[in-house]
Order: sequence, then C-alpha cells, then structure tokens
Amino acid sequence: MPLNAYQTTNHYLERAFELLALPERFRTALITPSREIRVELIIELDDGSLGHYIGYRVQHDDSRGPFKGGLRYHPDVDLDEVRSLASLMTWKTAVVDVPFGGAKGGIQVDPRQLTRRELERLTRRFVEQISPVIGPDTDIPAPDMNTNAQVMGWFFDEYSRRRGFSPAVVTGKPLELHGSLGRDAATGRGCLFAAREVLAAAGKKLEGTSFAIQGFGNVGSWLARLLHERGARVVAVSDLKGGVFKGDGLDVPALFQHARATGSVSEFPGAEALSNQELLKVECDVLVPAALGHVLHEGNAREIRARYVLEAANGPTTAEADQIFSERGIMCIPDIWANAGGVTVSYFEWTQNTQKLKWSEDLVNDSLEKHMVDAHRAIAACMDEYKCSMRTAAFVVGVRRVKEATELRGIG
Ligand code: GLU
Repeated sequence: MPLNAYQTTNHYLERAFELLALPERFRTALITPSREIRVELIIELDDGSLGHYIGYRVQHDDSRGPFKGGLRYHPDVDLDEVRSLASLMTWKTAVVDVPFGGAKGGIQVDPRQLTRRELERLTRRFVEQISPVIGPDTDIPAPDMNTNAQVMGWFFDEYSRRRGFSPAVVTGKPLELHGSLGRDAATGRGCLFAAREVLAAAGKKLEGTSFAIQGFGNVGSWLARLLHERGARVVAVSDLKGGVFKGDGLDVPALFQHARATGSVSEFPGAEALSNQELLKVECDVLVPAALGHVLHEGNAREIRARYVLEAANGPTTAEADQIFSERGIMCIPDIWANAGGVTVSYFEWTQNTQKLKWSEDLVNDSLEKHMVDAHRAIAACMDEYKCSMRTAAFVVGVRRVKEATELRGIG
C-alpha cells in the first residue's frame, strides 16, 4: 500500500533523523503537530440554501517563530493532507532560514462551484472560527492552492474587524492592502533560482535547458515566464483542461495571453496537444510538477524522461517514486527548498507590515535570491557530508535548525 501524505513526509523525516542520530525524545516532538483544528463552516448560499463545509488548520511547530503556512481550497483537503503540508512548512521555513514555524490550513470545497460572494462569506466564516488561535505573532496564513490575494484581503479585513487593524495576520495580500511587491511572483522566482543553482553546480546554464511544467496557476505561469525571459526552453505546459507541446520551445508570453483570454493553455495555436499525464513523460531536462501532490508515483516514475524533477508543488513525489528516481539517477529538487520563495517573501511582507514600511521590488527579489542561494549552500554541504540525496539533505538542514531551537528553548 502506498504511504499517505503524512506518512510520506514522516518517511523523509525519518531518514534525516537517522543520519543525524537524533535522540528518540526529539523524534516525537518534531513529528507530532502542536495543534490541529477542525471547524464546521455553514454559510448561506446566494439561492438562500445553506452550504456546509469543513475547514482545518494544523499548527505543526513554532519553536523557530510563529506558525506560518498557506490556506488551500480544494475538494481533496483532509486532515491527513493538511498535517503533511503543515509539517513540510516547518522544514521549509527552517531550510530558507526565515523566523517562522510551520502550519497549513484548508477548506474542503471546490471553489469553482461558488460565486465570488459565497467565497467571501466562506472565507470570513473560516476567519471567525480560527481567529482565537491565529494572529500576527501566533500563526500567519497565506495563499496556497486556489486561494489568492483577494482571499487574503478578505481574511485581513475580517480579522481586523474583530481584533483591530492587523495587516501582519496574513501574507500574500493585494498590493493596495499592505501586500508586498514581488510576492505574487515569489514562488515561481524562487523555483527559478533553485533550478539555476542546481544546474550551475553541474556546470550547466538555464539558457537552452528544456523544461516541462505541469500546472499554469500562480507558480507554474510565473516560472514559465521567468524561464522564458532567461533563455530557457519551455517545451510543454499543461493545466486542468490539457496541455501543449512544442519541441523548440513555446512562446510563453503569447501562451500566457492565450490562457488569460480562453481560460486554458490548451488549443494554443502552433503547438501539439497533450494530456496532463503525457506531459509528465515528455523528454526534457527538467520536469516541473507545479500543481497537485502525489502526481509522480510508482505507476509512472519509470516512464519519466527528465534528468531533474523540480518540485514547485508541495509533495508531488510519492516515497515509491522518490526511490525509483534515485535508482534511475533522476535528481529531485525538493519542495521544501524549491518552492520556498513564497514563504520567504511572505516573511518580507510580514516584516514590512510590522515595521510599517515598504520595500522596493529589487530589495525583495535580491533578498529572496540570497535566502535561496544560502539555503542551497547549506543543502549542498549536507549532500557532501552525508552522501545523501538532495531531499534528505534539505530535511537534515531543516531538522538540525528546528532541533537546535527546540533544545535551546527547552522541551519543558
Ligand atoms: N503556500 C505557500 C507554501 O506552501 C506559501 C506559504 C506562506 O507564504 O506562508 O509554501
């Protein structure tokens, strides 16, 4: 039986624990979430009927700072998934060395079935339910799958109505509402830096390197545009409705316009059509899962024809696929570093909000680059020291930092 999401994260963690010979008493403290909340959300729908939804917030660890992590709206959201994602946030914030812990939340809902007003009501109800346990110095949510700056704007407003003006309670807000320049592009830009560093360590360049990207939401579409700008070849892109392929590289700016106008990348003129599943098997240098979790699994891992897997999504690779990739010499650039650009710029947004000042976009992007490059240095040193995979090394870096903080604070 394949491991579920939480077991998968713990499986990766256990490897880091082994290498660090972590004493038993830390293991439970580092694995177990600090608090798990399940809330019932009842709202009136536009037609007068009642909508009934379940929401979660899992606060995994706060030894390095307030809990931090996104909110996703998706029909598959459940406690197991949110637990796993909350734990990943703990290691992610430690890897890029931002002063936060890890959390995640979500609502089990298909947001496409709701009107804008219903979505707003649902978000406000969720804030009402979790407001006792969040706050600018306690737990700071942010966007994740199917949530965006507008949702964060409602979140900020509802919390502020209850507790007074509190822009730092949530990040990823609209620019006009105390958001940060560069936050929207941050996860994609962080992925770009991660790819650049890994390629450079192998004596290669972004220029001319081919990428296939599954997912054209916030992360995938920014990454595709930034790669194109740097001279990389984006050969395939897909979204919910299907994908497109062009061996000598897609015209990404035109593709972006097409997706905006039609709601999908599919049927982009001059490119071959391919399915979401076929995209994963495209021959390319770097395969980028930038959508759902667990898309690379035992059933397709042997058919992947890329040299690198850049994990722009959270948890896209099952433990079984991870094992197959290491046997086949395919390098996984792990989510807890690769997609950490978002939370890094969330930290800058929170800093600007708490200090009541505004950073320039250059300052944001340069600081992001520094965090990503420093993290790469720490991970690469660990790979050398322990002769382990990049994923294990990233977990080792994260676990070491969280363990030190836990020890210094005292377990109690
Ligand atoms: N949801 C993003 C992630 O998975 C960003 C979290 C944040 O900015 O707090 O890393």
